[in-house]
Amino acid sequence: MTEAKLVSTLNEENLSHFSKTYVPPRLLLGPGPSNAHPEVLNALSLNPIGHLDEAYISLMSDVQQLLRYTWQCSNRLTLPMSGTGSAAMEASIANFIEEGEKILIAKKGYFGDRLVDMATRYKAAVSVIEKPWGEAFSYEEIKYEIETKKPSIFAIVHAETSSGVLQPLDGIGDICKKNNCLFLVDAVTSLGALELLIDEWNIDLAYSCSQKGLSCPPGLSPFTMNKRAQDKLSSRKTKVPNWYLDLSLLNKYWGSDRVYHHTAPVNMNFAIREGLRLIANEGLENVWNRHNANAKKLWNGLESLGMELHVSKDYRLPTLTTVKIPPAVDGDGFRNHLLRNFGIEIGNGLGELSGKVWRIGLMGYNSSEDNVDRLLNLFDTELKKYSIFESSTF
Ligand code: PLP
Repeated sequence: MTEAKLVSTLNEENLSHFSKTYVPPRLLLGPGPSNAHPEVLNALSLNPIGHLDEAYISLMSDVQQLLRYTWQCSNRLTLPMSGTGSAAMEASIANFIEEGEKILIAKKGYFGDRLVDMATRYKAAVSVIEKPWGEAFSYEEIKYEIETKKPSIFAIVHAETSSGVLQPLDGIGDICKKNNCLFLVDAVTSLGALELLIDEWNIDLAYSCSQKGLSCPPGLSPFTMNKRAQDKLSSRKTKVPNWYLDLSLLNKYWGSDRVYHHTAPVNMNFAIREGLRLIANEGLENVWNRHNANAKKLWNGLESLGMELHVSKDYRLPTLTTVKIPPAVDGDGFRNHLLRNFGIEIGNGLGELSGKVWRIGLMGYNSSEDNVDRLLNLFDTELKKYSIFESSTF
């Protein structure tokens, strides 16, 4: 046997560094991921089975049925894509954009920017309407832009995780329909947590993630599209320029043919089935009410500690609160203190809000009264330590 020349080697000293994988316990109250539900973790740890095994195929059908319930839709093409939320976001662009396609993107934060970036890469003719980070668009503004710009796709983020804004979607689907335009919604921070009615609101295409409202680890991105979207996809003149995310190919596996496309991340699908089952057991409306009630408790608590919320009551996002970092406080210092000493993660502001706000997430399994109480107590007792003033008022 010839001796292999290993380029990368580990000596004993190095090897002793690699003890069994350990992850410190954390309570994730940032913008995501959120903690996975213990039952989801149990499902995740089951032994994999073949992705064409009849037991797995039956599990796939369960996932689709439970997803339709959670999306509140009857769309046949409803499936969890392999990859995080950005995978289904890119699929929504890659499959529906051909060179020169007119897309209108309503941007009011970081994730609107990502849509613009993706649409530009796929050579769309992109027009953008913009709001400051912390505001939402009105129905009239959107109506005017769609009627004058006449795009073939209108895209908007329902729950903008960067700014903490919940965008009202009422009536927009009807305007899109009347103007022969597809309505594309980013529901990454709303699915399984906030009211979202895909069929009733005439949403043609939507995508989300597994790691927030669905109480799973990151790794899958639920996607749904209706007949109008399907018709547009069938009328493409050119091949979808992305093999992995090509919906027609994915549909051959998730539809009745069950043709192999790529090896499904089977354990993540065990996990999402469990996360969705837990939502169905609790009841969707109860889930929405729980998220709203816990967010209100957090908002009231923060305000009674003298803190200021970044977004006005009208558009505040229950799953993600942006609270202003008091000017006298070292924002990163306090966040690190919570993480290192209490195992609690909250997020820094993103993009232009970095250093100006903290982002507090209450999503899925983590949206509980206990978690709100625990965090508010820590704000009350620990924040003073990071203030340059002696007083606890900011
Ligand atoms: N859209 C929104 C609103 C998000 O909050 C995120 C991530 O948090 C994404 C898209 C991208 O999802 P992911 O990071 O899972 O790829």
